[in-house]
Amino acid sequence: MNQYDVTVIGSGPGGYVAAIRCAQLGFKTALIEKYPTLGGTCLNVGCIPSKALLDSTEHYHNAHITFKEHGIELNDLAVNMNQMMDRKGGVVKANVDGIAYLMKKNKIDVLAGVGSFIDKNHISIAPTGGGEAQQIETKNVIIATGSKPTVLPFIQQDKQRIITSTEALTIREVPKHMVVIGGGVIGLEMASIYARIGAKVSVVEYTDSLIPTMDLALGKELKRILGKIGIQFYLGHKVTGATRAGDMVTVTATTPKGEELKLEGDYCLVAVGRSPYTAGLNLEAAGVQMEERGRIKVDAHMQTNVPGIYAIGDVVRGAMLAHKAEEEGTFVAETIAGQKPHINYLLIPGVVYTWPEVAGVGYTEEQLKQEGKAYKVGSFPFKASGRARASMDTDGFVKVLADKTTDEILGVHMIGPRIADLIAEAVTAMEFRASAEDVARMSHAHPTYAEAMKEACLAATDNRAIHM
Ligand code: FAD
Ligand code: NAD
Repeated sequence: MNQYDVTVIGSGPGGYVAAIRCAQLGFKTALIEKYPTLGGTCLNVGCIPSKALLDSTEHYHNAHITFKEHGIELNDLAVNMNQMMDRKGGVVKANVDGIAYLMKKNKIDVLAGVGSFIDKNHISIAPTGGGEAQQIETKNVIIATGSKPTVLPFIQQDKQRIITSTEALTIREVPKHMVVIGGGVIGLEMASIYARIGAKVSVVEYTDSLIPTMDLALGKELKRILGKIGIQFYLGHKVTGATRAGDMVTVTATTPKGEELKLEGDYCLVAVGRSPYTAGLNLEAAGVQMEERGRIKVDAHMQTNVPGIYAIGDVVRGAMLAHKAEEEGTFVAETIAGQKPHINYLLIPGVVYTWPEVAGVGYTEEQLKQEGKAYKVGSFPFKASGRARASMDTDGFVKVLADKTTDEILGVHMIGPRIADLIAEAVTAMEFRASAEDVARMSHAHPTYAEAMKEACLAATDNRAIHM
């Protein structure tokens, strides 16, 4: 029987990063994955394919809508869905092949099949296509089995017309009318993809805000901007059903006034969150305890109640984000090695890849109000940015929240062009506990979108913005 220092179950961004860091630290490491390719949700059916389609459709949207104003005339513009989906497939393949290469390079044994506990130190790996299971012995286990789309119990998902994000990444036609249930991250990224190429898109959201877990100013601005590309929003609506008849789906919801709303479309995307995935692990055999909402219970060291068994990523508490899973993968590897790593969960940024992009880090204004913290706000709109005017991307703003007395930056919330990358400046500043004035006094290249961050910090520092 093969023996390992560490066995990682699941090869998503949590699992494969944990495996690489374990190998770097000198541990004999195995990585178990049940799907034919490595990379988990993120690389196969999540972050990477969705961003590939967001980029393709943004190109089309610009060619269709903004090129003319730039002085570029195109005739016979058309969407070729097969080519768009094939390109996305190529992007995914390059990424998952890259992970296979990294496993080889780091001498990590990749074991194909479903991993399940025999006991706390023995794992069985059953090949997905059938055949004899193999067994291994291990000193430590890192569970990184991720999540799957949450289902609404009253909706039968046939995965053809009533679909999850996985199927929404493979549609090879322009939908006539896509009804999206859930105005969160997946709902709005998918809504953007299909609205940009001409589909009618309606988003039905239960709460009275889009992306309701982010600073509320962002959802408000995003609703206004996405409305301009024709997306219809039904906020404060409680979905009561979705039924398919032929190629059509009828979605019903209760309006804020208690009336019934009926929407008919050819596709209904259900995007109401994701649930931790532990099926097949046989956790009982190892005695691993769970907590609410199907998550594996872990302590501050990401260790379960069983010494030597850890869990990371979407399968445990916290934001369901690839970079959060990656940080936890590194954290556990270093913990097993006896180091004292640290993760600052407050400073894990959240990004939505719509156009304009949306990003936030630290406390939201609503959280500061709730905690009774005295704060000041500095805001700068992209319409006052020379760089944004040059590219015709003038929607959105940067909002900086700083401590009223010390001026320390407490939160940064942005909506605007390329701010998925700009949020890294806010994370760096906050990790070093910068004040708004610290950032305001740093030189930012001109003309860049990043100047909006400097200006918002100036605005937070005694209302000193220069270009406003
Ligand atoms: P996963 O990536 O889910 O990987 C778990 C792996 O474990 C899977 O490969 C699964 O097959 C395997 N597995 C499960 N059980 C077993 C078993 N018993 N034996 C063997 N293997 C097993 N996050 C971002 O940060 N940025 C984004 O832009 C982003 N976009 C997204 C877009 C979409 C459409 C979706 C659905 C998600 C997106 N996410 C994004 C979220 C991100 O994908 C997840 O947070 C991330 O993948 C979680 O990583 P993980 O390692 O915990 O699990
Ligand atoms: P989400 O939690 O972001 O949004 C779900 C939305 O559905 C919420 O706004 C919620 O109020 C609404 N909702 C719930 N039940 C409803 C109902 N019955 N009717 C109408 N609305 C309802 O979840 P998601 O968009 O499914 O994404 C899942 C996870 O994947 C998220 O945790 C997210 O972090 C991750 N993800 C991240 C990215 C990114 O980082 N760019 C992209 C996609 C997904």
